[in-house]
Amino acid sequence: MRDFLSRLGIEAVNSGAATSSGFFTPGGSTIGVTSPGDGTEIAKVQLATTDDYEKVITEAQRVFASWRELPAPKRGEIVREVGEALRAQKEDLGRLVTLEVGKILSEGLGEVQESVDMADLAVGMSRQLFGLSMHSERPAHRMFEQWHPLGVVGIITAFNFPNAVWAWNAMVAAVCGDTMIWKPSLKAPLTAIATHRICDAVFQKHGWGGVLNLVIGEDATVGETLIADRRIPLVSATGSTRMGRHVAQVVAGRLGRTLLELGGNNAVIVHGDANLDLALRGIVFGACGTAGQRCTSTRRVFLHESIASDFTDRLVKAYGSLSIGDPLDPGTLVGPLIDADAVGMYERALVTIREQGGEILCGGQRVDRPGNYVQPTLVRARHDMPIVQHETFAPIVYLFTYSDLDEAIALQNDVDQGLSSAIFTDSFGGAERFLSHAGSDCGIANVNIGTSGAEIGGAFGGEKDTGGGREAGSDSWKAYMRRQTCTLNRSSELPLAQGVTFDV
Ligand code: NAD
Repeated sequence: MRDFLSRLGIEAVNSGAATSSGFFTPGGSTIGVTSPGDGTEIAKVQLATTDDYEKVITEAQRVFASWRELPAPKRGEIVREVGEALRAQKEDLGRLVTLEVGKILSEGLGEVQESVDMADLAVGMSRQLFGLSMHSERPAHRMFEQWHPLGVVGIITAFNFPNAVWAWNAMVAAVCGDTMIWKPSLKAPLTAIATHRICDAVFQKHGWGGVLNLVIGEDATVGETLIADRRIPLVSATGSTRMGRHVAQVVAGRLGRTLLELGGNNAVIVHGDANLDLALRGIVFGACGTAGQRCTSTRRVFLHESIASDFTDRLVKAYGSLSIGDPLDPGTLVGPLIDADAVGMYERALVTIREQGGEILCGGQRVDRPGNYVQPTLVRARHDMPIVQHETFAPIVYLFTYSDLDEAIALQNDVDQGLSSAIFTDSFGGAERFLSHAGSDCGIANVNIGTSGAEIGGAFGGEKDTGGGREAGSDSWKAYMRRQTCTLNRSSELPLAQGVTFDV
């Protein structure tokens, strides 16, 4: 066992369930977790069953009744310590992220930094969970709104951000006075176990076991039970649009709330007057970072006809210089895909691209070494190729040429997803057109920055098939609380609103 794994408490076989008194032995089957970097088994996880889930939700509900009584700034003080604990373990946890999901080490460390940043942001929020006061139309009446904790929040996370996506939700939900149940991806359970262990230790130290809870189980059993559970007023789900559509329907069927962070199909426009050095770096990082497995990965690039040919040559050259290999090696820029299924999906997409008339300019092969490595791929494409509409979760980018900026903006919007978008231009008019209400229809719109690499200070999320949710950012806490409007009458009259009379 590697040292950093034992420092994180990862054992040969790990429990996949934890609640108020810590990890307990669940009753499900045991799965092996392999590293996508070399295919070796890292450790095993014993899965939770629906009976284990029942134990966890019961405890999460019980603890909610007292956690909500603790003043929000005091809850924030505990979250501040959680941020400190994550800081202290950043190296080890970042390394585990890299080992388990294959993103390069600087991205693994960056992910844990994002969780630290979320803790800091949430501490500030804990003193700003404010409502508005309104002037009543009735004399001697006062109106105001206040925000109360919601209850037990279900947090479903995708494999590709196995630490930070939970923190986006958990840090804020905790200061809001909610308890929560985390159901991570079965492709990244070890990071969830280590993250839970680090953060829950802080809560336990303060006598607040059961605020953070963990349940690692199959989608068909534990997942379905969680989303159908009326005791969970909010399900925050991050993952594919296919998953989000299903979760949204099940939760809406019981009139619960969802917060959805789903797939993207993100585009960059490179205008004729762009700083091409910036554009090149922004596109290569956006397309190849995390081996193209970010929700914000660049998937489509629109090149102005005046620069298209030369810039394509530069892109092909840059792709040729990318080091693909062991994500723990500091010299590597592109690590592996998450698993063999993902490699199969990449290969099938390339067959479809060729069938639909796309021209592979570089890449297009799996890399012949142990692990799930593929070559980042550039494709000259037409926007009406059906595959362009789909998010292929791999480093494949479609290149298009345009002559008119409005045409490029219309095409960049002409997909089902609406997460991230970018333009590279040095013209004020071009940038403003892109950012105007008739410009990008995405939740994120950048100028002279690529599509990926968001900061937690801004609300994160997207429109259309991306699900409409927003996490992080200034007022994201409102999703984790319930809003109450209060009217107080200090007079001895009972005037009715809208001038209605009803004398008895
Ligand atoms: P996925 O949809 O396969 O799984 C996501 C999560 O949903 C996992 O925890 C999975 O176990 C769970 N899940 C699936 N079916 C379920 C069910 N019936 N009931 C309950 N839970 C269920 O996605 P993935 O492959 O892990 O992640 C990649 C996808 O996530 C991509 O589409 C990517 O764009 C998206 N993503 C979006 C964001 C964002 O913020 N918008 C962030 C990260 C990833």
